[in-house]
Formats: sequence, C-alpha cells, structure tokens
Amino acid sequence: MGRVYNFSAGPAVLPEEVLKKAQEDMLDYNGCGMSVMEMSHRSKMFDDIIKNAEANIRKLMNIPDGYTVLFLQGGASLQFSAIPMNLAKNGTADYIITGQWAKKAALEAEKFIKVNRPASSEDETFSYIPDCSDLNISDDADYVYICENNTIYGTKYHTLPNTQGKDLVADVSSCFLSEPVDISKYAVIYGGVQKNVGPAGLVIDIIRNDLIRDDVMEKTPTMLKWKTQADNASLYNTPNCWAIYICGLVFEHLLNNGGLEGAKKRNEEKAKILYDFLDSSKLFKGTVRKDSRSLMNVPFVTGDDELDKKFVAEAKENGMENLKGHRTVGGMRASIYNAMPKEGVEKLVTFMEDFEKKNLK
Ligand SMILES: *Cc1c(COP(=O)(O)O)cnc(C)c1O
Repeated sequence: MGRVYNFSAGPAVLPEEVLKKAQEDMLDYNGCGMSVMEMSHRSKMFDDIIKNAEANIRKLMNIPDGYTVLFLQGGASLQFSAIPMNLAKNGTADYIITGQWAKKAALEAEKFIKVNRPASSEDETFSYIPDCSDLNISDDADYVYICENNTIYGTKYHTLPNTQGKDLVADVSSCFLSEPVDISKYAVIYGGVQKNVGPAGLVIDIIRNDLIRDDVMEKTPTMLKWKTQADNASLYNTPNCWAIYICGLVFEHLLNNGGLEGAKKRNEEKAKILYDFLDSSKLFKGTVRKDSRSLMNVPFVTGDDELDKKFVAEAKENGMENLKGHRTVGGMRASIYNAMPKEGVEKLVTFMEDFEKKNLK
C-alpha cells in the first residue's frame, strides 16, 4: 500500500520531503558513518543539529533575542506542571477553559497554586472561544493561561485575551508554525511537536528570559526547572535527539517554502475548501461557531452516529485515515495540519459530496 491521506490529530502527517531526507540520512548522517539516533548528544555533529534547529525556528517565528528556546521531553503535558512551578510568585493563576487540554493544565496547576477560571466555553461543549476582551482577571495572577488551538473541539483564538497586563502563557501544540505569531505578546509559548511539527516526545518552549529564574517553587524537580535546561542549552540530560533532528528538517522545509506566511496562506486555502463545503452541505455540519474556527482541526457530524461510523469506514477504504472524532465529541474530525497536501483536502471533500448524494434521505 502507498501512503494514505492521514487526517490524524496527532501524531500526525509530516512532509514527505522531510521523511525522504531522513530516510536518506538514516544509515549515514552527513558522511559521519552513523545515524542521528546513534550519535552522542555531546558530539560536534549533534551540536550542529540542535544549534541549526534553534537558529531556524528563531528565523521562522521571528523570535526576539529576549526569549529562550528550549527543546524538552515529557510532551506538552509535563509543562502543565512546569509552568506553575516556574512562574508562581504570588501562587495564583487564571486559566481560560476552552477544552480538555486547558482543563487538564488547570487541574495540574491546581496541585501547586490557586487557580481561577475567569472564562469557559464548557456550557456549549467547547464549541466556541469566549469573549476575552474584559475578563475578571485576578489582581494577583502570576499569569493568564490559554490553549490557543483546541485540537479536540476545533476552535482557535482569533484575538488573544486581554490579560490586563498579566503575562500570557499559551499552549500552541496544535497550531505551532501554522501561521506567523507575534512572540512579544506572550510570556511563554509552548507546544508538543507531534501535531504540526515532528515526532512525539518533544516539547518546544519559548520563554521570555526574565521568567527563567532560580527562585522557582520549592522542591521543583531539577529537570522541570527551566533554568536548569536553559543553562545547559537543552542538554542537561540526553535529549530526544531524533525528534530535534526531524523538527530541524521541518523548520528548513518551511523556510524553503515561504516561511510561516506561506504556511498560513496554504492553510487558509485548505481550510476554506472544507469549511465552504460544510457550510453548503445538507448532510454534514461543522460543530464550531464560525468566529472560532481552527485552520488545523475541523470537527463535523452528520447527526446520525451510524452514518458517522459508515463515513469513517468508507473514507478509510478510500485511502483517507483517522477521520474519527475524539472519543469525547464523536462524529468526525479532519486534522489538516501544515503537511496535509491540498489534494488530500480536495479528495476528502469530493468523497463527502459523493457520500452525501448516496446517503441523504
Ligand atoms: C496533544 C495536545 C497536548 C498533549 O500533548 P502531549 O505531548 O501528548 O503531552 C496538549 N495540548 C494540546 C493543545 C494538544 O493538542
């Protein structure tokens, strides 16, 4: 079987060019006679790989000098603990609840600090982003936390919250590198890379330098203290060398294809094809309020569970995989990350049109 169109929410599709380059390098990276997986993380070769990766993500995202980039392990979920441990001063933070990932992050933080929840969209199954222009932000909040793109529900902030001067911390796991961002608006921006950037098991943190401190919460594990990682250039212990290498290839690939402006343009084009169809369909319905739609994750339903199942099964037979919605939402979800080709979305929509003709009662 050849390659399928993989609509998985994560781990997810990677650029074919990058996979081929990795294949080429597999046995002998750059003439050194071994693969990246086999080399010392203290070697000159790996030092070049990680330094290049950092330089390239800085270029791509236009990261100002006053921010540190860390390549860490434990995925986005371990940062749910690291964030309160590193940022707590007053011991209070405000979490805006727009889905399962924000909820989990808030619950984890609550083990260590006081958590307020100034807004939530749980009342309508997280199908929209609440108005965050005038929130009741706690006076003593050390930071305001958001999950910027909600992978499960398919919502995205189109305007960042008014934090009333408080530091903003954002989980961007599922919209990482999907469009340009103004880093200076954030105190911390971080994401697990397996949604839109690389293989699972690596999380990238971009942290304003003044927040990398020694006076973190008492008994913060050494590995979770950002200063440990920053002082050691992400090499305090053995990092996920392979994932860093693949991310580096993805950064280069994006830089060679118009940077994040280029990515945004392609992502908007792809999402429009699917949303336009959903808006005109008599069978399928998007589940997200229009002003909150994500360019990356597109959930939709027919309103009939059996028909949804049939759709997912028949799509798979036609080379389109992982279209089943998250177990907490049901229906379908098409994740159309950077590396999903436009042809994949076109094929999906053609298939949906055909399915609608056959199944519309
Ligand atoms: C997948 C995901 C996570 C969890 O990532 P892990 O790397 O598995 O911990 C966190 N936040 C968002 C928005 C996600 O999509």
